[in-house]
Amino acid sequence: MSAEILVVEDEQRISRFLSLELEHEGYKTKCVSDGREALDEALANDYDLIILDVMLPNLNGIEVLRRLRQSKDTPVIILTARDQVMDKVAGLDLGASDYMTKPFAIEELLARIRANLKKRVGAVKAEHVFGDLRVDIDARKVTFKDQPVELTKKEFDLLAYLLENRNIVISREKVLDVVWGFDFYGNTNVVDVYVRYLRSKIDDRFGISLIETVRGSGYVIRE
Ligand code: CA
Repeated sequence: MSAEILVVEDEQRISRFLSLELEHEGYKTKCVSDGREALDEALANDYDLIILDVMLPNLNGIEVLRRLRQSKDTPVIILTARDQVMDKVAGLDLGASDYMTKPFAIEELLARIRANLKKRVGAVKAEHVFGDLRVDIDARKVTFKDQPVELTKKEFDLLAYLLENRNIVISREKVLDVVWGFDFYGNTNVVDVYVRYLRSKIDDRFGISLIETVRGSGYVIRE
């Protein structure tokens, strides 16, 4: 059964483009262009995922999300303008699963949709298996070929985040937002440092290359 996605976007051009792309990928879509209508629609039906623009008539996306979360945990990917950092913060604080900054590449949005839908399906089994590497999210334990790998909290969170978003190139800024949180006011170099820690504890020790550096973009774990 194909996943149903609610697209909330008042710019007709973007909305039409999104629904065409999503339907091409085999998803069912419904488009609404108004915040209040979006909330009604999201409460009345069980969508698998919602793509939610922030700047909307009648009720903005953040408010839609806040009210939706009072009764439902449908995964929500918010769309924000590049200069609306506070929307991104508020959105994630209110339980958005992810965000995309406009303008975005459709391939990245599709990858995030897949990741979020998969996360939902796999929600019962909180474990990432990647070749010989096993990451148990609940127990916060990592093993490689059954040998335990000791990681600090941040190292673990970083590894889990990259695995959760495998095949998606993740920018340093995004890692900082998600793993360190918005209250972290440091240099993005901290991400490079932690990737180095992970490489010395996993790659070097077991002779693999897990985390790939994408020059000028960030990091990715590829399947
Ligand atoms: Ca808008």
